[in-house]
Amino acid sequence: MIKKISLRILPEKINELSFIQQSAADALTIQVEDIDAVQITRRSMDARSRTPVYQIQVSVYIGEPVQDLYQPVHYGPTGQKKQVIIVGSGPAGLFAALRLIELGIRPIVLDRGKNVRDRRFDLKTLQTDGLINPDSNYCFGEGGAGTYSDGKLYTRSTKRGDVKKILSILVQHGAVHDILVNAHPHIGSNRLPGIIKNIRDTILAANGQIHFNSRVVDLVLKDQKIQGVRTQQKEFIADAVILATGHSARDVYQLLDRYGILMEAKPFAMGVRVEHPQELINTIQYGRSEKSACLPPAEYSLACQVDGAGVYSFCMCPGGMLVPASTAPGELVLNGMSTSLRNLPYANAGVVVSIDSKVYGPYEKFRHFAGLEFQQQIEKKAFHSGQKTLAAPAQRLTDFLENKISSSLPATSYVPGIISFDLNEVLGPFISERLKAGLKVFARKMKGYVTNEATLLAVESRTSSPVRIPRNPKTWMHPQVKGLFPAGEGAGYAGGIVSSAIDGDTCADAVSGYLSCRGLP
Ligand SMILES: Cc1cc2nc3c(=O)[nH]c(=O)nc-3n(C[C@H](O)[C@H](O)[C@H](O)COP(=O)(O)OP(=O)(O)OC[C@H]3O[C@@H](n4cnc5c(N)ncnc54)[C@H](O)[C@@H]3O)c2cc1C
Repeated sequence: MIKKISLRILPEKINELSFIQQSAADALTIQVEDIDAVQITRRSMDARSRTPVYQIQVSVYIGEPVQDLYQPVHYGPTGQKKQVIIVGSGPAGLFAALRLIELGIRPIVLDRGKNVRDRRFDLKTLQTDGLINPDSNYCFGEGGAGTYSDGKLYTRSTKRGDVKKILSILVQHGAVHDILVNAHPHIGSNRLPGIIKNIRDTILAANGQIHFNSRVVDLVLKDQKIQGVRTQQKEFIADAVILATGHSARDVYQLLDRYGILMEAKPFAMGVRVEHPQELINTIQYGRSEKSACLPPAEYSLACQVDGAGVYSFCMCPGGMLVPASTAPGELVLNGMSTSLRNLPYANAGVVVSIDSKVYGPYEKFRHFAGLEFQQQIEKKAFHSGQKTLAAPAQRLTDFLENKISSSLPATSYVPGIISFDLNEVLGPFISERLKAGLKVFARKMKGYVTNEATLLAVESRTSSPVRIPRNPKTWMHPQVKGLFPAGEGAGYAGGIVSSAIDGDTCADAVSGYLSCRGLP
């Protein structure tokens, strides 16, 4: 018999299995000796009361063997009868490749960047010398933007079944088992590269191919059907192409545009990264430091509406650091990451304003690229304000609200450094005014959030893609180009690691359906 129950456990007891077993026995009014095993299936933090507690769901096994939460997938060797090119080895591309292998189809993955190990050197140069390699950076290279990310794995996606599958595959490739249980699973940028390398090994062992340093620069098209792609070095031909190049590959959007391939502008969001001392966030959220409370570094999530535009916190990184996520020289983009321990003394989050066609004004002439142009202009302004290095223009939160240039700035985790600047000039009135109004609402929701100890750094601009590459909702194929399957964040159908992975996984099923319809065995 398996009994499923919920328990509330004090943080200092959460790792004591015998205590949890006794609590389960008490809740079921049975003897603890009658229990064969207790398995935690869900763990979340309830910090609403004065004493934060863990809310856990457990399966209590009585006279039954324990069922593992983790279900490994078998990846057998693929033949060469059906081959599919996947452009991009981010979460969408890699999970598409894994799913194709499950379906017996050989993936050929092409990525403009380097493997995870070699990519690390370019990230170091980016941090310390401000030099951007347009093919190898925080967004481009093996594992995509997900590799050196925070590795938060929660998603607003309601497709819970699919989420479980993605998390289980990550565990199969080396992620900690806890991600299957935690309400806010997190891997950390120190562990992600190893997991990505293990996924690469699975793909290669199944007869798939992965080509690094292979930027796709052209398409092979015939009679409105895609036959393959060209990299700088060679041509690849296959039965279908999955385009999973992420939201930062502006050259890919330009390439599609050259062929007149339909795209559309899509709403996205832009703003700043806000950095607080982590200790301050812990005190606000828990009423005391996290160490004295045996709790993880505290998180927050804030949102409100200002004049019909959403203002919200995004991708919060407790105990994390800010990194330069620019992909081309002359533009500045910030993002956040953390290691598995989340033990830096800073808490950062994007605080962004939703942007749609009402905002574009002078950019409308760029049609479906209006949002992209708007985004790029602000990234360029941020770069120039930072004195043309990757130093970020910054302002104390309270100074920003009072329209004052900061005479000094707090310490920051951002290695290239920060420069005092009026962020109104970088962001423009639409974003600045809504941001100010939003931050004032946040101050009421989270007492202590608005403080001169917090710094705003510009610019957080790559929250999601400003362009959509449309696809038929039934076939997932581009409506004009047979055999072309846009996937992941760059196609405008996903945002974040897990939802991009789900999109890639599902896209592979659509490709399989397409190949079967074409009579391929
Ligand atoms: C620093 C940072 C932290 C983040 N933290 C989190 C987080 O904690 N949680 C979360 O859910 N999300 C996070 N994200 C966002 C997340 O990484 C992305 O949402 C996700 O990676 C998108 O997946 P994707 O596969 O669609 O595209 P991407 O991951 O962007 O991958 C696209 C791939 O395509 C390749 N490519 C591009 N153009 C070409 C071309 N012409 N030819 C060949 N290859 C090409 C790129 O090299 C890249 O590898 C973070 C992002 C960054 C940058």
